[in-house]
Amino acid sequence: MEYEAVIGLEVHVQLGTQSKIFCSCSTEFGAPPNTHTCPVCLGLPGVLPVLNRKVVEYAIKAALALNCKINPISVFARKNYFYPDLPKGYQISQYELPLAEYGYLEIETSQGKRRIGITRVHMEEDAGKNLHGEFGNPHSYVDLNRTGVPLIEIVSEPDIRTPEEARLYLQKMRTIMRYLEVSDADMEKGEMRCDANISIRPKGEEKFGVKTELKNMNSFRHVQRALEYEIKRQEKVLEEGGHIVQETLLWNPQLGVTETMRSKEEAHDYRYFPEPDLVPLEVSQEWLEEVKSTLPELPEEKKARFMDRYGLPSYDAEVLTSSREMAGFFEEAVKAHTSPKAIANWVMVELMGHLNADNKSIQESPVSPGQMAQLVALIEGGTISGKMAKDVFAKTYQTGKDPHIIVEEEGLVQLSDESELGTIVDKVLEDNPKEVEKYLSGKTKIMGFFVGQVMKATKGKANPQMVNQLLGRKLKERRP
Ligand code: ADP
Ligand code: ZN
Ligand code: MG
Repeated sequence: MEYEAVIGLEVHVQLGTQSKIFCSCSTEFGAPPNTHTCPVCLGLPGVLPVLNRKVVEYAIKAALALNCKINPISVFARKNYFYPDLPKGYQISQYELPLAEYGYLEIETSQGKRRIGITRVHMEEDAGKNLHGEFGNPHSYVDLNRTGVPLIEIVSEPDIRTPEEARLYLQKMRTIMRYLEVSDADMEKGEMRCDANISIRPKGEEKFGVKTELKNMNSFRHVQRALEYEIKRQEKVLEEGGHIVQETLLWNPQLGVTETMRSKEEAHDYRYFPEPDLVPLEVSQEWLEEVKSTLPELPEEKKARFMDRYGLPSYDAEVLTSSREMAGFFEEAVKAHTSPKAIANWVMVELMGHLNADNKSIQESPVSPGQMAQLVALIEGGTISGKMAKDVFAKTYQTGKDPHIIVEEEGLVQLSDESELGTIVDKVLEDNPKEVEKYLSGKTKIMGFFVGQVMKATKGKANPQMVNQLLGRKLKERRP
């Protein structure tokens, strides 16, 4: 039987405000344990939470960028459960009336564009962190610095169909959060966390199957791998006549398998109820407009503009707008030399190839946009060949020197003088009469040999197009 996967993601994004969501403690990461705490985030009796306005602004920005409707009134709720990292015994979240609903996010898959529905975006506070055996003894400790750090939870519709789509969705989510500067959304650092709900159904079937929930995946790759594994596992269960049990599973990255964490029977009853210590949150039209006016050009708009204005294919525009910095680099280079497609190629292939190999970001690029433009201009002006340009690029990357300086210093100028090249071509043909004969008798594949000889004679500097033209013409002239 052929099956189809149905996937819905619940994503938490840490918002990068200076202070926590309900108190003025710092959200700074890496401070000594329990130093960024106060009676509010420690959950001491008698204290009251005060909502951080900046958190709401960041959350609204994120929700708008995800094409959501912002609810004019939303309500905070208590989610009750017991765990050592949760001093109050409840987490302040939003439940029945979240900040925002009915959004979507678009991804570019190998099969084309796909739109994934967003059910809701709500705000909540983070819990603390339990530390096990980290201080040279077998005890567990609790660090409450993270308690009260602001989060948004973004719940998707069950619209995702493949593990690849799930990864693309998360990557696009990160891109959007970074464009908005509301979060770095780095999964490895826990700034973005993802729970994946997954079920399978026979292809063509409308009804959803029983889902499982996967946790503990802290990179894009892990999410994709865990989902791939879970699809196979569920298929095997069904093929063997069994049925899927609704449960929460933990991804084990070492073994590459999912393992039961808890079954439906052990699921929490959170006893949600409206938070009595906070009034409902009102987002006025004025406030909404004010936040809207601060939104930057978003990835989708930028991509559309890149395709329209620079005539780039969808793929190029997608890659070049994957970060604001990358897009900025490209546009600055194009400003210096108007040749968008060539610059796009050089940025995507050579520059990104070098940067990725060195684990560097575009901000750390040793090659400036101006230098990139200069290199492309040197090729297009016929000064150097594309092949030479690769070496020049590598040298600019290594030394930071301008491409035209490298060209000068190394005497790399391409030989494009027709009469000079013509003389060399004539000599090559005269020195190789047997090969000329072969060519004239129909073995035209031998052309490559002549090109090679000319290149050798010019130490690789000959303009390859011109060499081909001249050879073609001069060989024709020798035809009996
Ligand atoms: P729960 O009641 O278990 O919290 P929800 O209906 O709130 O489930 O959905 C949680 C997440 O699971 C959402 O992202 C949703 O899209 C996804 N989801 C719901 N049903 C399914 C299903 N049958 N298969 C896969 N994902 C699902
Ligand atoms: Zn505090
Ligand atoms: Mg739910």
